[in-house]
Amino acid sequence: MKPLGQRVFGKSHAGLDISTNRYGTGQLSVLLIGGVHGDESEGYIFAERFESELQKDKIKLPDEVVLHVCARLNPDGCKANRRTNHRNVDLNRNMPTKDWTGEFTNVRYYPGPHAGSESENQALLAMIQETRPSVILSLHSYENPMVNFNGESEDLGKAMSEKNGLPAKGDIGYPTPGSLGTYAGWERNIPTITLEILRGQDPDTVWSTHLGGVELAIGYYLHHKLPRRKG
Ligand SMILES: [Zn+2]
Repeated sequence: MKPLGQRVFGKSHAGLDISTNRYGTGQLSVLLIGGVHGDESEGYIFAERFESELQKDKIKLPDEVVLHVCARLNPDGCKANRRTNHRNVDLNRNMPTKDWTGEFTNVRYYPGPHAGSESENQALLAMIQETRPSVILSLHSYENPMVNFNGESEDLGKAMSEKNGLPAKGDIGYPTPGSLGTYAGWERNIPTITLEILRGQDPDTVWSTHLGGVELAIGYYLHHKLPRRKG
């Protein structure tokens, strides 16, 4: 399956595209994102491999799905193997949520000068508005791997957990104001999975561990009732 188009939603500071590739022509829109944190290569390597295997027809999408893949939301961070963007902003603390705060305890989580200040997140907001996803999968990595579900998507989180063996949790263990999970999941009730892959796991193991759960998530709402969207 070839991508049916590329849509550029913005540019990084270094001039790299922040874009999605679109696969399939179905009605159920799914957004797959990697590389929000540039030092979490486990996620963007998986997303890029997912695209390459789709293109080689080694994996298939359900006919009813249209999949939008943004493998690297933070291309500058990915290139530099750095969590934050070029302005040292943690993009997953910069989304314009109701609980956004300028306070931070650790520079790793610098939320930026104001909510939604970063070009990467402006691109992400445009992406969500244009693709109107029914489900969002954002691939991260963490030393405590888990399926973090946001919004009324505990059933999806648990189903993924059965595939990948990681715990499904509605709470990552500390507050994440300005996160995509809060913005899309809790505030808009778009089922949003922040998949925390085990940090440092080799790409082949990541692939074999997570392919089943990601495929399940992509097709999940073809067979289950979508929670009612807010906003
Ligand atoms: Zn992360």
